[in-house]
Amino acid sequence: MDKLMQEELQIKDELQSQLLDATIMMIDDEKINMEVVKAYLENAGYRRFVLVEKSTEAMDVLNETKPDILLLDLIMPEVSGFEILTKVRANPIFKHLSLIVLTSSDDTETKLKALELGATDFLAKPVDPSELLLRLRNTLGAKAYMDQLAYFDPLTKLPNRHRFFERFDWALKKAKRHNDNVALLHIELDNFNKINDTIGLEAGDEILFLVARRIESVIRDTDILWNDSGDDEEMVNVFRLDGNVFSLLLDRIEKSENAALVAERISEVIRKPINLHNREIYITASIGIAVYPGENTDCYAMLKLASSAKDFVKNKGGDAIQFSSMEINNMYERRLSLESRLRKALENDEFLLHYQPKVNIETNQIEGVEALVRWNNGQDGLVPPYEFIHLAEETGLIIPIGEWVLHTAVAQLEKWNQEGIQSISMSVNLSMKQIEAADFLAKVGNTIDQSSINPRHLILEVTESLLMNDIEGKINIMKSLREMGTKLSIDDFGTGYSSLSYLSRLPVDELKIDRSFVMNMLHDNQISAVVSTIIFLANSFGLQTVAEGVEKRGELLFLQEKQCKQYQGYLFSKPLPESELSGLLKK
Ligand code: C2E
Ligand code: CA
Ligand code: CA
Repeated sequence: MDKLMQEELQIKDELQSQLLDATIMMIDDEKINMEVVKAYLENAGYRRFVLVEKSTEAMDVLNETKPDILLLDLIMPEVSGFEILTKVRANPIFKHLSLIVLTSSDDTETKLKALELGATDFLAKPVDPSELLLRLRNTLGAKAYMDQLAYFDPLTKLPNRHRFFERFDWALKKAKRHNDNVALLHIELDNFNKINDTIGLEAGDEILFLVARRIESVIRDTDILWNDSGDDEEMVNVFRLDGNVFSLLLDRIEKSENAALVAERISEVIRKPINLHNREIYITASIGIAVYPGENTDCYAMLKLASSAKDFVKNKGGDAIQFSSMEINNMYERRLSLESRLRKALENDEFLLHYQPKVNIETNQIEGVEALVRWNNGQDGLVPPYEFIHLAEETGLIIPIGEWVLHTAVAQLEKWNQEGIQSISMSVNLSMKQIEAADFLAKVGNTIDQSSINPRHLILEVTESLLMNDIEGKINIMKSLREMGTKLSIDDFGTGYSSLSYLSRLPVDELKIDRSFVMNMLHDNQISAVVSTIIFLANSFGLQTVAEGVEKRGELLFLQEKQCKQYQGYLFSKPLPESELSGLLKK
């Protein structure tokens, strides 16, 4: 805490001179009024002014420039001062902005109304210069503004280093008490000195200001990541530590790895060209990340770790992200490399399908197969779906991959038909993202039309959790699929949230009892009761029942007794490549 107190004293010394750095914004439809006031104030040492003549532009300029104080004319054409005042106070960022209303009206009513709407003070027009100076100093010198100065960087309007350590210290203590995660992003703009040298210090300042706004915009857009606390003042945890270094505190994220997602978006927005005085400027950032509880230490040490992680990427050329913990960094890099290889997998023809028989429980005949995708990416051999389907969904790649699967499975079925294997069905898994794509139904329709298969032999599997939101919309899509002649199956049945009672409303043909039930039904009475009930109800609704993951003879006997219709599982066969399965089918 000593360090904090030292900094505090030093900051108080600087405050007085900083008052004159305040950005003063004026909104008045008569430009001359503003010029006169500006001249007085310049004379008194103030340096930063923003003049707005068109009241319609007021809110935009306010957002862009974030002034420290606003002098507002009340009577203007188009948008009145009252309207602006109301908007300013309704905005969480400007809720506490110092705001002096200028009015030529003697009317007490008007003055009262202005105060009621949240004006800090008012002044009569024409403005008396000495009175204006006094009011300005009072307002700016008031506690709220002094705090603002002590804690905020006047250039970027971001909270400063001092505020950062306070917040960070508090967040870490809280996280240690509640076992939360905290991530610290240390963001340094690459080659900033070179930029300053070529375009000048003033333009450099403008860039810092713009970059601050871009980082803030990412935070606002990713607020799904936070467990919302509803406290708008603490919402933006972006700080300017010094020079070209920003930091971002993520103290409300679910997993510390999520910090990488935020960091990637920040890199992205910083990389977008900045248009400054008709020049395009390109900058990048090096980002180091330290996470608690990964690094169990205090805020100074964590800052050091994040900073050296940042130096590490900076030395490799910048424009990259690095975690301080090697372990997390390895995870992050694996994901990155998996993602880039997955992007190329379709072009490189690296996917293939394996087929697992669906077998009649009574006759032990193969009645159908389920197509299960595999990724042969050379270096790791066959990658199972659980290692890449999730990533494919996150990145949207599941849409082209899913299309490929459907197309390939239908072509395979057609081939078997031509070889004389006629009455077999083909099951294909669909993911949520795929179904939600606008042209999904048309794509399925085309695939069916262009093949000679009987659509009744195509079974589309959707998981139960898919029905969780927008049920009505999903039911409509399912109905359309059935109108094309395909059958629908609910995969992993029993693991989701649907109640058995609304089964009757769903346009489905088949239920697949999840492997987790089959696996445990022989040892757990409750589970065996659930399985019996599912089979009983499905049978009474006339639905096909399929048990997944049958590995043991005893499981098969139980399912037979309960009158389940089909099973799938290692007991009969693992998913097999085409060549091996064709042999089984022809037997
Ligand atoms: P799922 O649809 O529930 O597929 C059944 C999974 O259980 C398959 O794993 C299968 O190999 C495995 N399995 C079958 N019988 C047994 C058994 O007796 N014991 C054990 N331990 N496992 C058994 P797989 O192929 O790894 O697929 C995993 C999941 O990946 C699938 O679960 C499905 O949700 C998804 N998936 C696979 N292919 C596709 C696809 O083309 N598109 C989409 N969207 N998802 C797919
Ligand atoms: Ca399935
Ligand atoms: Ca399943």
